[in-house]
Amino acid sequence: MYINMSVFVDEFMQIIYLCFDSINCKVHLKKKHKQAVFKNANNPKFASLSFKFKKFHLILVWIMATMLLFAFAIPSKETISKHKKLQLSMPTEPLLNLTAETTSFDIKWKHVDIKKGQTLSSIFDALNLSQTLLYNIVHLNKEAKQLTKIYPGADLAFNMDDSGHFLQLKYRISESEELFIKKVDDKLVSEIVLHTTETEVKTANGTITGSLFNAGKKSGLTDAMVMKLASIFAWDIDFILDIRAGDTFSLIYEKIYQDGEFLHDGRIIAASFTNQGKTYKAISYDDGNGWSYYSPEGRNMKKAFLRAPLNFSYISSNFNPKRFHPVQKRVKPHRGIDYAAPRGTPVFAAGNGVVTRSSYSKYNGNYVFIKHPSGIVTKYLHFTKRKVKKGQRVKQGQTIGTVGSTGMVTGAHLHYEFVLNGVHRNPRTVKLPKASPLAKSKINAYLSYATPLLSQLDSISVTRIALHQPKIAKKES
Ligand SMILES: [Zn+2]
Repeated sequence: MYINMSVFVDEFMQIIYLCFDSINCKVHLKKKHKQAVFKNANNPKFASLSFKFKKFHLILVWIMATMLLFAFAIPSKETISKHKKLQLSMPTEPLLNLTAETTSFDIKWKHVDIKKGQTLSSIFDALNLSQTLLYNIVHLNKEAKQLTKIYPGADLAFNMDDSGHFLQLKYRISESEELFIKKVDDKLVSEIVLHTTETEVKTANGTITGSLFNAGKKSGLTDAMVMKLASIFAWDIDFILDIRAGDTFSLIYEKIYQDGEFLHDGRIIAASFTNQGKTYKAISYDDGNGWSYYSPEGRNMKKAFLRAPLNFSYISSNFNPKRFHPVQKRVKPHRGIDYAAPRGTPVFAAGNGVVTRSSYSKYNGNYVFIKHPSGIVTKYLHFTKRKVKKGQRVKQGQTIGTVGSTGMVTGAHLHYEFVLNGVHRNPRTVKLPKASPLAKSKINAYLSYATPLLSQLDSISVTRIALHQPKIAKKES
């Protein structure tokens, strides 16, 4: 069946105008740069059509519906070719990990997920780009040379034409700088685009009911931020055994945004943590030798020993504080502390020292002893694997082994002992020398910096308490 399409479309459009006309509305149709404005015109052509419309409107509405159906059901030439292209560019065995193509300003970027040990040369091979092009790119200038230092996780993307020829690439040199290398008239040109970041200072507070991570989430903190918070107080609080329901925290922290989008968490500027009624506070401060956390009196939060020698994030993700009570009761007859933890959890050296034993025995399983200054020895038993050797110097926080169940044990756990001058002490309560305070010449500057932050911290917790207190009814006079 042959239909004169132009006549049909003309008639069809007029009917549409008429429909709008009949409901008495003004239509502003914008099509690219052309603008068609239709008003309630008293057009004789429209008047005659109006009659037809009334008579045949049911049929015409049906025709319109059919046409619309066709328009949506049949893909345009462009979409068909796009689908074909996608299929063609998909190798059965992916040579490169390319994440979803993103379109910005109509440029299609192929993002490369750089794997460990992958070189720029292998990436070019996988994208069917020549090694000559690679040579010309990295020898373009000093900025372009940075491409030779690609690393896993780096942000690298390519833009190619339909035949797979190189058009441009972009590479994030740093958080604020992005390198673009483009082909312009068969010549390579480079450009650095600067991205500015904005810092937002936020406050948060929370009360622990289940786990610290859950409380953090409720307060809008990421898990990474919760880890940062715990790491500030890791010398004072055992985040595995000592956290209780009702413990509270408050913090002032930074969120970093770029181009209006959240990029990552920033620093914790100040924080407080109340554990079993005892409050610890810390302020981030640069005394001229880099940023560190200090107590309100100006003592470094870092001490000679960590309260718990293992990473709490492995344990407290589904943390039930009560679960650990029976374990604590066993502390008396037993000369150490048991930390129930999943097999493989990294165990840290609680302080700087020298490994005096790294061995295996029937009772201890794989074990490590560390000698520290001031007559202190720490002992770690039942490892799956030992990661240090006898005589080795270790730093606080260095992984010395992983939790296991070797030796005379029933389940995977770390047995930890703290020995001071030959006497076993409870590592969670033993008094340890405090870090020395900031130098006298620096303390005044620190205190004037810290005071407003400390009162802001207090106000965050006060606000929270006030919100939870029942309102007292006013007395009627
Ligand atoms: Zn034990």
